[in-house]
Amino acid sequence: MIRLHLHSLRTSQDFPHRYVAIKESIHERKRLETLASIDPLTKLYNRAHFNALMELELNRQQRSSLHASLILCDIDDFKKINDTYGHLFGDKALSYVAQTIAHSIRKHDVAARWGGEEFIILLPDTQLEQALHVAQKIRLALTHAEFQKTVTLTASFGVTQLRRNENATSWFHRTDEALYKAKQSGKNRVAH
Ligand code: GH3
Ligand code: MG
Ligand code: MG
Repeated sequence: MIRLHLHSLRTSQDFPHRYVAIKESIHERKRLETLASIDPLTKLYNRAHFNALMELELNRQQRSSLHASLILCDIDDFKKINDTYGHLFGDKALSYVAQTIAHSIRKHDVAARWGGEEFIILLPDTQLEQALHVAQKIRLALTHAEFQKTVTLTASFGVTQLRRNENATSWFHRTDEALYKAKQSGKNRVAH
């Protein structure tokens, strides 16, 4: 893209200035693209970017008939944490959970902040059993964390594997139902 611009500018007298301006505008566009896809508090992807990646992955999976799994994670009684320790502490807890998730997944897995105190993880080439294992790993990492010295921070998880010819909406809906089951059966657990 840069080369294309330079070609048409080569005869221009103010070439160096123009070149800098173009470089800056590309840099600025990249910066804005990053801003638009990253949640500023947790530094994970935001929901819009996750949805775009999920669609791409869905197409790939349906073409290749590979497996894929989804984990939805919701912090337990987070309102109480905010009410007891304050909103700033709540923000720290959110970053902490995001970090724990990021450290517990593989390079090809995609984690995002779904909204509020909810996180979502897409695990390509992963069957339900393995995805359940990953969710348990995150759940246990949270219960054993240093953070627990100050506060009891747990989360519930819904896990599903993509079905043949299923669309993103239905897949997400099933995962949300699994999360609901985890909450209903006592929180701090993984359901599918
Ligand atoms: P449950 O175990 O059923 O999930 O209960 P909960 O209290 O976690 O769920 P609820 O939906 O009642 O409350 C979520 C809370 O998350 C309320 C909201 O103020 C808080 N929250 C959402 N986004 C943020 C944020 O960015 N920072 C902080 N500190 N709190 C947030
Ligand atoms: Mg919630
Ligand atoms: Mg919650």
